[in-house]
Amino acid sequence: MAFIEIKQFKKVIDKGKQSARIKWDDKQQTIFFSRVNVGYGCKVFFICSCCGENRTMLYLDSNIFKCVNCCTVKPYRGIQNTTKGGDEYLGYKMERFAIKVGIGSFDYPFDYLQHFCPKGKHKDKWNKNLSIMQALENMRTQSIFFNKIWNQKTIQSVESGKNKYLKCTLLDLKEKFIPFDNGFDIQVTHKNK
Ligand SMILES: [Zn+2]
Repeated sequence: MAFIEIKQFKKVIDKGKQSARIKWDDKQQTIFFSRVNVGYGCKVFFICSCCGENRTMLYLDSNIFKCVNCCTVKPYRGIQNTTKGGDEYLGYKMERFAIKVGIGSFDYPFDYLQHFCPKGKHKDKWNKNLSIMQALENMRTQSIFFNKIWNQKTIQSVESGKNKYLKCTLLDLKEKFIPFDNGFDIQVTHKNK
């Protein structure tokens, strides 16, 4: 399924444009951008022409580029097709993690303030899971901004809750670029002493 990603539009976005016209086959569509202020600057999204939500990817479905929720046919977005350790990969990890721990569906960029602890859930555990989600979002953003590819050890240390930067406040995890690569001890195992 054909898709477009916001990072492909970096040039027009940097020029401050509010929209871009895209053409394919004999069709065309004007895509509008929205700019959202985040702690470290401004993040740009597509506005889905069907639902008006902010999105980083749009898919071609029935001759219109629209977001994943508005597609009649669900685009295949398996982990196999993504760069391991890149932004889409991290998005996939986040979606899986959110389902697993009961956070459920969320909008990008993930924002802990939109996910209050439901009644009956353990608050500390909930906040720990929010920290993991916010940390993965932090990593995902760094991948989008700097094309950073994270190594598996770092991703695992965050997913498993062992990265020491998970002790940062949720606000810091949301607003600062965190060097997660330095956040865990490398275990050296000595064989045959
Ligand atoms: Zn939509």
